[in-house]
Amino acid sequence: MASSKNGVHILVFPYPAQGHMLPLLHLTYHLSIRGVAITILVTPKNLPILTPLLSTNPSIQTLVFPFPEHPQIPPGVENVKDIGNHGNIPIILALSKLQGQIIRWFESHSNPPVAILSDFFLGWTHHLAQKIGIPRIAFYASGAFLTACFDRLWRNPAAGNPGSEIKFEDLPNAPRFPWDQVPTLFRRYKEAESDPSFELLQNSMAANGLSWAFVFNTFYDLENEYLEFLREKFGFQRIYSIGPLNLLDGPEQMNVKSDSINGEVFSYLDGCPDESVLYVCFGSQKVLKKAQMEALANGLERSGVRFMWVAKPLTAEQVAEGFGSVPEGYEKRVMGRGFIIRGWAPQVQILNHPAVGGFLSHCGWNSVVEAIAAGVMILGWPMEADQFVDAKLMVDYLGAAIRVCEGGDTVPDSDELAKKITESMSRDTTQRVRAKELREKAMEAVKVGGSSDRDMDGLVKDLAQL
Ligand code: UDP
Repeated sequence: MASSKNGVHILVFPYPAQGHMLPLLHLTYHLSIRGVAITILVTPKNLPILTPLLSTNPSIQTLVFPFPEHPQIPPGVENVKDIGNHGNIPIILALSKLQGQIIRWFESHSNPPVAILSDFFLGWTHHLAQKIGIPRIAFYASGAFLTACFDRLWRNPAAGNPGSEIKFEDLPNAPRFPWDQVPTLFRRYKEAESDPSFELLQNSMAANGLSWAFVFNTFYDLENEYLEFLREKFGFQRIYSIGPLNLLDGPEQMNVKSDSINGEVFSYLDGCPDESVLYVCFGSQKVLKKAQMEALANGLERSGVRFMWVAKPLTAEQVAEGFGSVPEGYEKRVMGRGFIIRGWAPQVQILNHPAVGGFLSHCGWNSVVEAIAAGVMILGWPMEADQFVDAKLMVDYLGAAIRVCEGGDTVPDSDELAKKITESMSRDTTQRVRAKELREKAMEAVKVGGSSDRDMDGLVKDLAQL
């Protein structure tokens, strides 16, 4: 394992959304145990998310700046989970107002960081790093395929027109996406292009492609075509694929929030035959409309398959906006066969339980990588953001998943959904076999001397030379 003997100091700047922050903190843990000195920049309300990391690695310093005001962000909101995905653009724009304070902090520091490692939603930190005269490393809580698409879109936004299909003819497999499957951030930008503050967003996202290095929570055998594509496009070798991060140890509790429900979850799974349970979860943010919840509930019930369904409790506003809960009386009806988790589930541990044989997922990148690491086949229902891109990779290019539904507002046909679930859970489909093969490859990648292990070493060595 490479270590930074000189204790080179870097600034880590995570983007405040669960799916972005947790993997970057996991990487931060690994850099820290390899001797890299770290300061993490957060706003006050996000500080508690660092607790597991800071208690395991007390040498990590924090830099806390107040969350800058923005007209579209209610006071007290500092994380996407408190506002929903439509909050991404205002949060990106608000955080960019921290530039001046960060520069002043660097100027006053006796041993300032020699690099900035920041989330790809904080592309503007590339320009910040340039002003300070240090390199910026872009961390992608997503895959290389999405990055290749994103880079094209953000560096040439005029080529993507609302309503029309987007073709990426220069990319491996020449993917194409109908407009409503293009990553949401780009669609929102194009659909509101007249808003002048959005120029900053475009500039920020495009700046990612100019970074000094790129780190992905992926592994070579999963996305070699797209990693090589990026290497050729960006013209240098500092492209590191260091995942799946969740196969590496992490600060205790980072992935598991201990909760009294956990005991019940695992005793339920312990009582189920191997690979018999379908785990159902749509990430850290997505909630479904009432009609969608009913259709999903009926589909699960009619499939006859055992399932474990994570259904987030709703806020009063969400209820008023038409979002739905698990239908009344449902839990009783499916008792013994269906288990409902109302709250945060220990997803990684559930996926790795031998009883779990399928994952009905929105195909958020972390969920995809966690399913691969557990060798569990995905039944995909991509809804927004990067999810259609991730689903294309898994279903169409790798043959390791199936699609059961598409679209954030789609109400699935319960009978069709039930049929797809029953069929895919009842036999060893080629997708299930492929999902297990990918797990083997993921395990190889993170082994000492494997592709991800070598890339982690390469990253630490390159940092040590700064
Ligand atoms: N997650 C979890 N428990 C939950 C919901 C989500 O542990 O009840 C974790 C999941 O393991 C993953 C992350 O939250 O690491 C969700 O990230 P993903 O990219 O899949 O989706 P997003 O939340 O960004 O839409």
